[in-house]
Amino acid sequence: TERTLVLIKPDGVARGYVGEILSRIERKGLTLAAMELRTAPTSVAAEHYAEHEGKPFYPGLLEFITSGPLVAAVVEGPRAIAAFRQLAGSTDPVAAAAPGSIRGDLATETQRNLVHGSDSTESADREIGIWFPELG
Ligand code: ATP
Repeated sequence: TERTLVLIKPDGVARGYVGEILSRIERKGLTLAAMELRTAPTSVAAEHYAEHEGKPFYPGLLEFITSGPLVAAVVEGPRAIAAFRQLAGSTDPVAAAAPGSIRGDLATETQRNLVHGSDSTESADREIGIWFPELG
């Protein structure tokens, strides 16, 4: 089994899609190992998105991610990392994400694309350590 760090970003919470997104995760056969609603401080958002520091969209991304409550979760199951990324769809909800995916069905903007999921086991370990240090 494998663990991945999932965020339902502030747009997902504000638009009332927490239940819809959790339902898709559960229907896929993945399970919740930890979950919490919280507003991320800038320090946590900056650590999470450290790889994007210096990119043009980085300041706006930090502002968006800290703008209101988000749901942070550790999602578990066989091939959980790839399975959740399949559910999420590609980063750009219109140009790339397929219909049937969370982003393809429910989002239009690349920044406000509803969810985050770790992209590798290394990222998952790092990100779970940031959001749920008690699980490290
Ligand atoms: P995530 O890490 O959130 O799952 P991802 O792996 O699909 O997304 P990354 O390239 O790591 O995409 O970008 C991280 C996040 O930064 C994206 O999900 C999106 O919210 C934002 N982002 C990425 N590229 C852009 C862009 N060109 N303009 C605005 N925001 C962007």
